[in-house]
Amino acid sequence: MVGLSISQLHLRPHVVVLGGGYAGLAAATRIGRIANVWVTVVDVRAAFVERIRLHQAATGQTLRHFPYREFLEQRGIRFVQAGLEAINPDSGTLSIRTPCGDTLTMSYDYLVYALGSRQNTDAVEGVREHALTLDSLEAAKAMHQVLLQQRSSSEVLVVGGGLTGIETATEVAESFPQLRVKLAIDQPFKAQNRSGLVHAFAIRIWPSAVTTSASSKLPAAVP
Ligand SMILES: Cc1cc2nc3c(=O)[nH]c(=O)nc-3n(C[C@H](O)[C@H](O)[C@H](O)COP(=O)(O)OP(=O)(O)OC[C@H]3O[C@@H](n4cnc5c(N)ncnc54)[C@H](O)[C@@H]3O)c2cc1C
Repeated sequence: MVGLSISQLHLRPHVVVLGGGYAGLAAATRIGRIANVWVTVVDVRAAFVERIRLHQAATGQTLRHFPYREFLEQRGIRFVQAGLEAINPDSGTLSIRTPCGDTLTMSYDYLVYALGSRQNTDAVEGVREHALTLDSLEAAKAMHQVLLQQRSSSEVLVVGGGLTGIETATEVAESFPQLRVKLAIDQPFKAQNRSGLVHAFAIRIWPSAVTTSASSKLPAAVP
């Protein structure tokens, strides 16, 4: 069992928040303010990643460094850097793995599960093999390296008209004006005739093109 002494455990309930993203940090700080409990945040990383700014990392901008320990300990919240391996509800314990590779057991009275979501790279054929994603800081940095290697006027095709797609397409167009950036959106939209916007539902990603449900092929040096 890590961290808390037996006397601490008997004094107050122990709330463990799994995940230090937006949801986990908001939950931990609020619970810590309103309840008479011990709060521990567990995250596999040592520092918070601002996911909503990953498109900026993909264009070479440096994101703010925001270490968890300092932020949380100032608020009376303990931080443990570890990856979750298993939840054992019968015993009220977690198995976690530290960065050194040790597997530890942590007990909890209440658990907040806020591990976020991951992109499904198997939903469209070819994504896993040929497309870049913006799922993590590492993926964003890898995208930046690929963008740097492109020839002038290469086509960058961003698929998906949600927040991530729109922000990525506009950020890449602004930071790499020599590239031709296109945004493929599967719903009809008012600004459809604007250059750079395509109404298309991607069904297959190839190394340098994307096949759409209308059987057309959109060229893309970077899909
Ligand atoms: C480029 C981009 C732009 C976006 N723009 C916007 C926007 O403008 N507005 C908006 O509302 N949303 C936006 N989003 C979506 C937004 O980022 C997510 O909705 C939000 O991050 C979800 O927060 P979360 O706390 O649930 O998960 P996350 O922020 O993903 O946090 C999960 C945490 O859990 C940790 N973790 C995961 N697995 C484990 C494990 N096994 N063990 C230990 N720790 C683990 C991770 O390290 C991470 O710190 C954008 C996303 C992207 C990628």
